[in-house]
Amino acid sequence: MRTAYGVETVRSAEAALMAELPAGALMQRAAAGLAAAAAGLLGRVYGRRVVLLVGSGDNGGDALYAGARLARRGARVTAAQQGERLMERQLDPAAARLLRAHLEELGVEVHTECRVRGVRTGPAPSGGGGRTATGVELADGYVLDARLVVLACGVRPRVGLARAAGLDVAKGVVVDDELRTSDPAVHAIGDCAEHAGVLYGLATPALEQADLLARVLTGAGGDGSGRTHRYAGTRALTRLTLPAADGSLDLAAFGETEPAPGDDVVHLADATRRVYRKVVVRADRLVGGILLGDLGAVGSLARAWEGDEPLPADAPLHHLLIDHLGGS
Ligand SMILES: Cc1cc2nc3c(=O)[nH]c(=O)nc-3n(C[C@H](O)[C@H](O)[C@H](O)COP(=O)(O)OP(=O)(O)OC[C@H]3O[C@@H](n4cnc5c(N)ncnc54)[C@H](O)[C@@H]3O)c2cc1C
Repeated sequence: MRTAYGVETVRSAEAALMAELPAGALMQRAAAGLAAAAAGLLGRVYGRRVVLLVGSGDNGGDALYAGARLARRGARVTAAQQGERLMERQLDPAAARLLRAHLEELGVEVHTECRVRGVRTGPAPSGGGGRTATGVELADGYVLDARLVVLACGVRPRVGLARAAGLDVAKGVVVDDELRTSDPAVHAIGDCAEHAGVLYGLATPALEQADLLARVLTGAGGDGSGRTHRYAGTRALTRLTLPAADGSLDLAAFGETEPAPGDDVVHLADATRRVYRKVVVRADRLVGGILLGDLGAVGSLARAWEGDEPLPADAPLHHLLIDHLGGS
């Protein structure tokens, strides 16, 4: 169960979620699906306001993609982001500025540090007692009228039951590397589980956790190897392709994109051509990176990060960003 800006859901089936939303409010799903849904509504939103409630998760990027496409096709799109910058979990301030400039060029109005209090609804024009979204109310009471509202603001696990049972709860139910809660007889996986401070809210980590827990419960080393099974987190790269006047603007981000003390950072930036590349290296491992505008290096960087393998000791770090250019 989850709550998103006052929209309560009690079942995971998307149909059930959609049934609970007023007409004119979309829950973000995969970018392509959302863009198709939004395009289907274009007749209704042409020249009128669409408000995207954008969070910092992966879904926020997908919502921006749909918003960019709608703006290009004549809708007045406003992106409201509660955080300081767009995609703040994935992008550093410099990359977020480039992304914002690009969206603004496409006609998307971007508001950061903009807290939304709720979605306003009114009677649906079709009658029958249905409701339709009419706008969003900001924390300062200002109401933005809207013909369509897209919610991509994330989910929060409902932790009351776990808390009442005496389990350790932070944002989610806290679990260790064997997905065990503070009560050794209780495990938690999926959207409600918080591992190493991370709540994923995505299907792939939930599936990986389910798979690992099955192995933990059937006995460590049950495969005869004597190995214990430990969850080390799920590594997922964020990709986004936005329309651009002369093609598209690509973006990829992964891992920790802000360095910790002692980390090495390599940057390549060209604001005019809207190209930005950055990697963060800790000791001999790649721990994060951002590529915007030119994703030529994404394959090799993603492999080095996902594999968590030592980087070659004999190559300068900037080679990580330029090797795909044939050493230029
Ligand atoms: C609209 C929407 C779109 C999404 N799109 C994507 C996507 O494109 N890609 C992606 O990777 N992820 C997506 N997700 C996230 C993905 O659905 C979840 O990460 C995944 O379903 C998590 O699995 P889960 O088993 O933890 O939770 P759920 O799938 O939510 O299952 C939880 C189950 O527990 C039941 N339950 C809850 N409380 C109780 C109780 N007290 N007693 C008994 N049963 C209870 C619920 O009824 C539900 O059946 C989307 C989510 C939503 C809401």
